[in-house]
Amino acid sequence: MNYNAPEKGRPFEEILKELDTFGVNDPDYKNARTWSLVYYLNEEYTNFLQDAYGKYFSANGLNPTAFKSLKRLEKEVLRFTADLFHVDYSACGVMTSCGTESCMLAVKTYRDHGRSRGIKKPEMIIPETAHVAWDKGAEYFTVKVRRAPLAEDWRVDIKAVEKMINKNTVMILGAAPEYPHGIIDPIEELGELALKHKIPLHVDACVGGYILPFIEKAGKELPLWDFRVEGVTSISADIHKYGFAAKGASCIIYRNVDYFKHQVFVNESWPGGVFASPAFLGTRPGGAYAAAWAAVQANGIEGYTALAKRTIEITEALKKGITSIDGLEIIGEPKASLFAYRSTSPNINMFSVGDLMEAKGWHIDRLQKPDALHAMVTAPHEKVVEQYIADLKECVAYAKSHPELADEGQAATYGMISHIPLRGMVRKQVLDMFADSYRLDAEELDLSDSSSMTPGSGQEGKKSIVDKAISWYVRKKSAKASK
Ligand SMILES: *Cc1c(COP(=O)(O)O)cnc(C)c1O
Repeated sequence: MNYNAPEKGRPFEEILKELDTFGVNDPDYKNARTWSLVYYLNEEYTNFLQDAYGKYFSANGLNPTAFKSLKRLEKEVLRFTADLFHVDYSACGVMTSCGTESCMLAVKTYRDHGRSRGIKKPEMIIPETAHVAWDKGAEYFTVKVRRAPLAEDWRVDIKAVEKMINKNTVMILGAAPEYPHGIIDPIEELGELALKHKIPLHVDACVGGYILPFIEKAGKELPLWDFRVEGVTSISADIHKYGFAAKGASCIIYRNVDYFKHQVFVNESWPGGVFASPAFLGTRPGGAYAAAWAAVQANGIEGYTALAKRTIEITEALKKGITSIDGLEIIGEPKASLFAYRSTSPNINMFSVGDLMEAKGWHIDRLQKPDALHAMVTAPHEKVVEQYIADLKECVAYAKSHPELADEGQAATYGMISHIPLRGMVRKQVLDMFADSYRLDAEELDLSDSSSMTPGSGQEGKKSIVDKAISWYVRKKSAKASK
């Protein structure tokens, strides 16, 4: 029997060396080649966070009465956050393990708050651009999602939101900013709606929470989005993003404890003891809270403000460089440090540009509806701005003169995923492929092999992927009908 483990334990040093070899093909975030996923400053800072994390590595935040140290660390991080968001300490909150957990908790909280007021078929209204964590929460907690369309300026359409409000609405959502295009929703207007209809309003500041306040401190005017807006009842913010903490740390803060009570789980009858838990996790990682606290202490208000200022300057330089390339434009008017850009010409396929940029070593997210490329900017990107723009210019020119690239590599896969009108089919394809990739005997997921995503496995030659998929669908339908 092979246990996929050595018979005898190996020396620590040898194991650590081998671990290093696993990462050689990972995205090169240390040289600022990534534009999502990683918030990294430098090695010295990272080592410092690791030390802080290590000090509470084994401590467990499950029970707030056992490790008083962790409760204190958590509370101090939350108080700092409350200060940033302009709410006094009658607010309450909890640290969670990620933005998704914070968002999903809000769904659970407002569902149960709605239930307590007799709502049996809860609905929530979220902008078209809201993070998928909200759909995930809705699916897990059986809340109906109503996606409100965007206005021309890419912010959620207030009139549409108001039309969607009904007696089953348990919460409204706005983002500051939304992740895909970095646009801040009209939180003040949403706040007025929330007050008028007496519905809770959550602001998803997962990505913006620890940079927008400092952009403002650096002197740039921003629309109001935090607890200064009266209707806002809660805010989620990921300190493991622009707070530059270690991964595994996010916050959710409620204006008052009455809402928060609906988040808390209590079982008073368990043989293991009376049990109360504030969030999803059972065992809660003390190290993540210690590292978050350490990050706040190390940066301070000045440090974060300086970082924000630099980051915005880099972002503006990038946007300027991108718009100077013929055929590209920035989507909407993003005010924070993330944005998306798209093609204004039918001759430039953004997914082809994405593939070409990737071949040059850049790790860039692809967006759909509309097709676009994404950038989440951090201070270390300063040293790559010029290279990025130069590479982009070259890639755009190449993509323009090589339209066939759209049917190759990842571009074909992304093109198919985003353009097929038959969303149920796309969903099934993605689900099958994704689940299969978790089989223990699976090969690595490879998006550049579009045949794995292409129904009928690409026998039809150079036809467009969309045509292929539709003809596959039609064949399938008629096969069913003739049965
Ligand atoms: C990142 C993000 C989330 C989810 O956070 P995770 O830490 O990745 O789970 C939710 N909402 C927004 C707006 C985000 O940017």
